[in-house]
Amino acid sequence: MEKIKIGISKCLLGEKVRYDGGHAHDRYITDTLGQYFDFISVCPEVEYGLPVPREAMCLTGVPENPRLVTIKSGIDHTEGMKKWAQGRLDDLAKEGLCGFIFKSRSPSSGMQGVKVYNEKGVPVKSGVGIFADAFLKRFPLIPVIDDGRLNDPGLRENFIEKVFVYYRWLEFLKKGGKPKDHIHWS
Ligand code: SF4
Repeated sequence: MEKIKIGISKCLLGEKVRYDGGHAHDRYITDTLGQYFDFISVCPEVEYGLPVPREAMCLTGVPENPRLVTIKSGIDHTEGMKKWAQGRLDDLAKEGLCGFIFKSRSPSSGMQGVKVYNEKGVPVKSGVGIFADAFLKRFPLIPVIDDGRLNDPGLRENFIEKVFVYYRWLEFLKKGGKPKDHIHWS
């Protein structure tokens, strides 16, 4: 059986792309899931054009529509990152991804519970990273999880099961199957 394609935040594969020049290698992902999945990696901040190392960023403003800004110099990368994300998502749409593993807590890649700082500098843990948000809106049916939730056996199992179901669904459509063929009348 061919390996199933899964998108992933690049630093989780051990690539040194984080703001501090480090990585966030997750061995369960590379050593165990890597036996079944082919990873298509994405580092929004580096692919958007920022260097390694770089000034750390955070989300500010309101959780429903946060800004992505550098912490010390206050440079606002929100619009640039959103624009870049649309082009990257166009490419990913051609990959046939059956899932995505996001890096938790990142202002670019975190899929939920990312800190958003209000004007008083108080964080609320209810934001979504700018790239992750664009991905979730563009591909609402693709199964997603982050590295933190992957440590929970129940959530992990659920994610993997959904990935296999989604894979079989895409295979079914590729072979000319129509959604109505899946409806059974009793
Ligand atoms: S969390 Fe996302 S933006 Fe940050 S280093 Fe990892 S892949 Fe790049």
